[in-house]
Amino acid sequence: MSLLLADFDRPRLRERIAAWGFKASHADTLLRAYYAADGANIDWTGHGLPHALAEQLQREVSEPATLARRQVAPDGTTKLLLRLEDGLTVESVMMPDHRGERVAGCLSSQVGCAMGCDFCATTRSGFQRNLTAGEIVAQFLALRREARALGRRLHTLVFMGMGEPMLNLPAVLEAIYRIASNGLGGIGWRQITVSTVGLPAGIDALDATGLNINLAVSLHAPDDATRAQLLPVGRRHKVEEILAAMDRFQARRGRPTIIQYCLLRGINDSPDHARALATLLGGRRVHVNLLTYNPTGTSLRGLDYLPSTEEAAAAFFHELRIHGVVTHFRRSRGPEIDAACGQLRRRAAEAPAG
Ligand code: SF4
Repeated sequence: MSLLLADFDRPRLRERIAAWGFKASHADTLLRAYYAADGANIDWTGHGLPHALAEQLQREVSEPATLARRQVAPDGTTKLLLRLEDGLTVESVMMPDHRGERVAGCLSSQVGCAMGCDFCATTRSGFQRNLTAGEIVAQFLALRREARALGRRLHTLVFMGMGEPMLNLPAVLEAIYRIASNGLGGIGWRQITVSTVGLPAGIDALDATGLNINLAVSLHAPDDATRAQLLPVGRRHKVEEILAAMDRFQARRGRPTIIQYCLLRGINDSPDHARALATLLGGRRVHVNLLTYNPTGTSLRGLDYLPSTEEAAAAFFHELRIHGVVTHFRRSRGPEIDAACGQLRRRAAEAPAG
């Protein structure tokens, strides 16, 4: 039977090691070695473990995810397609930081997605299942291996890949605890951001954990009518309701919430939209990230969304800035590869790797 170390926290691994007839404390050595090596090619005989335990680990340790495909863009953005034990695949992305030695990682929380955001490639294949905490940790380790191979450090993590993290919160939180644990992943709490398309109950549940992590909200429209066209969740939860949950989260932590706003030509990118957004966010402690859309083909509603023109995007940015809203452009990452969430997975399904 294989042993997936990414699935274990310390107490559970201690139980397993004790059940094998070894001292439970070996679990700590084991997990430390596993995370230090980013889960790769570990020679278990070199860690001061009893010979019989090392041999058993050598036979039984395996990974919950293996690399199925890798795409690297000229800007260094690297997209990984990881194959899970049941054959399903999931995407993770490594993005170089402007500070040369650092990279940011983007993790998926589900296989597919049920949220139905109209401009998103992931949701077109539907929802398959939630990821386990171990499968999320495995993505983190895979990204750290990629970073290390380039002599860089994985510095920040965002749950902004496939899926809606709030709908798989127990596994996301379990993974975060391991990733941010000092003895294991060692990434600071404040270097981790969980993103939602706007589920107030999920934001409140995340808030209730008291974890000192960051929140991002994918707003994409300042008014309920435009939002409901783009995001089915917008029909259930009004913008004000989402922002109220966001305010509660922000009040406890003090740091700005990130507002994600993908500029779509002729849909949500007019000066009126910008002014409405500025009015909505005025007085709130937020940072707006304006995203360039990576076209993903015809949407569920039969639309072919396009990125905003440079002029419209610049005018939108200017309008927010003159109203005092902290705003940044997030340049398109790796447009030469299947950079939009869900694109690589769809392409791989259409044309298996040769
Ligand atoms: S944008 Fe995110 S939440 Fe919306 S369908 Fe895509 S993966 Fe799901």
